[in-house]
Amino acid sequence: MPKYKLEYIWLDGYTPLASLRSKTQIKEFASFPKLEQLPMWGFDGSSTQQAEGKNSDCILKPVAVYPDITRKDGVLVMNEVMMPDGKTPHPSNSRATIPDDPDTWFGFEQEYFFWKDGAPLGFPEGGFPAPQGPYYTGVGFKNVGPIARKLVEEHIDTCLAAGINLEGINAEVAKGQWEFQIFGKGSKNAADQMWVARYILTRLCEPYGVDIEWRCKPVLAPFNQPLDWNGSGMHCNFSTKHMREVGGKAYFDKLMAAFNQYRDEHIAVYGPENHLRLTGLHETQSIDKFNFGLADRGASVRLPHSFVNNGYKGYLEDRRPNSAADPYLVAGRIVKTIQLVPTT
Ligand code: ADP
Ligand code: MN
Ligand code: MN
Ligand code: MN
Repeated sequence: MPKYKLEYIWLDGYTPLASLRSKTQIKEFASFPKLEQLPMWGFDGSSTQQAEGKNSDCILKPVAVYPDITRKDGVLVMNEVMMPDGKTPHPSNSRATIPDDPDTWFGFEQEYFFWKDGAPLGFPEGGFPAPQGPYYTGVGFKNVGPIARKLVEEHIDTCLAAGINLEGINAEVAKGQWEFQIFGKGSKNAADQMWVARYILTRLCEPYGVDIEWRCKPVLAPFNQPLDWNGSGMHCNFSTKHMREVGGKAYFDKLMAAFNQYRDEHIAVYGPENHLRLTGLHETQSIDKFNFGLADRGASVRLPHSFVNNGYKGYLEDRRPNSAADPYLVAGRIVKTIQLVPTT
């Protein structure tokens, strides 16, 4: 029987920005293991801000499994963190608390910076490159810098081989900034894929001395004044069965009224430091406003042309979540607000 390398992945207890952690367990299976075959496991929560030293055990509960082509017989196992009883979700376990609905579909657009030696990859030492303009969807060393293309290509291949619905990639507006898109059905499934895609990317960068900067506004001028460099978002595109099949202006208006009413609750889970990014500049709406607009990239929620042309049917794009947001909480909040709005 082959010995599989099970990489157990989880989120640590650091706030406001949790990091991914992982460790390997070797186990024999007759063939590629199914989720039900994977045992719970433990880790030292006192080293991850998830427990006190004297009672330090936390439990890992497997929730999703993906093949890992970067290793022979490799398996990526996404986990929820549980209390020592194995039944109670740990307070840091956001996945356990969110509503799920397999008919709600999500498309996350994850923007991020490749980061090397304290600056975006490709920035000259101690300074800034030419202003933004040529970098978005750019080609050529002077626009995308070193290594980035190789990394995003490896990321695509590793995600696809894992069965993750990665739908595309592109170089973004700032130098060293890129995006990938993940599609999933159901808030937990979509966000599991997102976290594992983040994990894969972060790990692929290690041999190159490169990190991923997930924070939403990492390039700031002195005195904390944002320079003319874009921040990173994690736009959340979403649709329910009702939006896809029935839709209509009346329902849309009710939905947007609820999004307006719960603006603060949404912003609370749309990622740390978002006031630095949602300024009203750089294709964002300001953090204290809520609006929507047709094809409007300066709106909180953008309606694609297809949505309006099809009689307010299809998907919407919430542009406010940022690159460092927890996709479990983002998707969960969107489902929560949708569930408050009657479809009739
Ligand atoms: P943008 O023009 O904002 O850069 P992208 O092409 O990067 O758009 O991303 C669009 C996203 O919308 C993709 O992640 C895709 O999966 C998602 N999407 C498309 N159709 C739907 C749908 N019906 N429900 C939810 N998400 C969808
Ligand atoms: Mn995009
Ligand atoms: Mn983008
Ligand atoms: Mn977008």
